[in-house]
Amino acid sequence: MNSDRPKGPAPGPSRDGVSGEGVLRDNLFLDENEFVDSLRWLDEERRQQVIESMRLARNPRRLNASERQILSETVAPLLRDLAATGMRLPDIRPEAHHVSGMEGVGAWIREPDGCGSGIDIPTDLPPAERVERLAEQIQNWAADQLHDAGRKPEWPLCPQHPACNRASPEVVDGSPVWVCGEGPHVISAIGSLPKSR
Ligand SMILES: [Zn+2]
Repeated sequence: MNSDRPKGPAPGPSRDGVSGEGVLRDNLFLDENEFVDSLRWLDEERRQQVIESMRLARNPRRLNASERQILSETVAPLLRDLAATGMRLPDIRPEAHHVSGMEGVGAWIREPDGCGSGIDIPTDLPPAERVERLAEQIQNWAADQLHDAGRKPEWPLCPQHPACNRASPEVVDGSPVWVCGEGPHVISAIGSLPKSR
């Protein structure tokens, strides 16, 4: 059992002594049964995913060694690009907080305020496409950071065409690259953006 698991609400009176399995007082639903009951309209597989995600949110699962390897390999080029462009780096935790519904590795971006958001790396795709998929998610995270800082929520921008919308991650000739919509043209490999501020 993970000792640094988040402290959940106290178990409800109707669930004597079952620590962490009880009442979701902070949430929309009064207890887990009521919540599960509200999911009847989902198909069984999706319903189980939602239930498992709810449990993981309260008690995240540490990724195993091979999952951590995939996470660090896939995120590394994106961290390089964030750093090269003067962005704050996300605090990525090797923890699954949700079930993604696809074959993959899920991790967690923790924010300074203690909140966070999940990211997913689809492991049924080759590495280049994993980077492409994660790039889209990091773009959304970066957009939130920029928006909160009162800046244009577009990352990354093409150094030659900064007035354009954000670059798009694509796989070209088997490699993940940033593509500028002007032209369009390849800006650089993902992980090799030129230094800028
Ligand atoms: Zn361009």
